[in-house]
Amino acid sequence: MVIIGSGPAGVGAAEAFRQHDTDLPVRIMTNDPDHPYARPPLSKEFLRGDTDDVELHPAEWFADRSIEIHRGEVTAIDVVDHAILLDGERMAYGALVLACGAEPSPLPVPGGERALNLRSLTDARRLRQAATGARSAVVVGAGFIGCEATASLAMRAST
Ligand SMILES: Cc1cc2nc3c(=O)[nH]c(=O)nc-3n(C[C@H](O)[C@H](O)[C@H](O)COP(=O)(O)OP(=O)(O)OC[C@H]3O[C@@H](n4cnc5c(N)ncnc54)[C@H](O)[C@@H]3O)c2cc1C
Repeated sequence: MVIIGSGPAGVGAAEAFRQHDTDLPVRIMTNDPDHPYARPPLSKEFLRGDTDDVELHPAEWFADRSIEIHRGEVTAIDVVDHAILLDGERMAYGALVLACGAEPSPLPVPGGERALNLRSLTDARRLRQAATGARSAVVVGAGFIGCEATASLAMRAST
């Protein structure tokens, strides 16, 4: 079983598969450098500086279930021969789950490339660092994540 994506969908698929099959290898592929984590705290407790603990499960949880995590970019899927390419390395699969998530829309204006996105733990660390000592912030995007980030930044400023 090969799963592309270490978010809650990918980790949940690995867990559910393992509950039904104790023998076959279960392998999660991820291009995220961090141990699997939850994104919801990134715009809330993590951005406010109230916690650093955002792991979905500790490393032992994966080891206990023999769920392997492979880091790298999946660049190709060979659906005929049932294999993927992870950073150029070919890996066979019996069943393949795509749990690749989503990406924020880039800001399509001059200077937009300098704006900080908020999607990954790497993004959140960068944003929290930039917020340290900042006297003002502009948030582009007034959906849930934008509003939560705004509230968290305002709470940081008021403490
Ligand atoms: C800041 C923030 C706050 C949020 N708050 C909430 C909330 O309060 N409540 C709520 O319900 N939802 C919230 N969400 C949304 C929630 O986090 C997502 O719905 C959830 O993460 C989706 O899970 P997923 O497993 O489908 O995808 P993702 O979590 O996006 O995981 C996708 C995975 O695929 C990997 N990947 C993608 N392409 C490749 C590739 N080519 N090769 C290898 N790996 C690849 C990525 O590295 C990643 O590990 C929030 C999201 C963010 C960003």
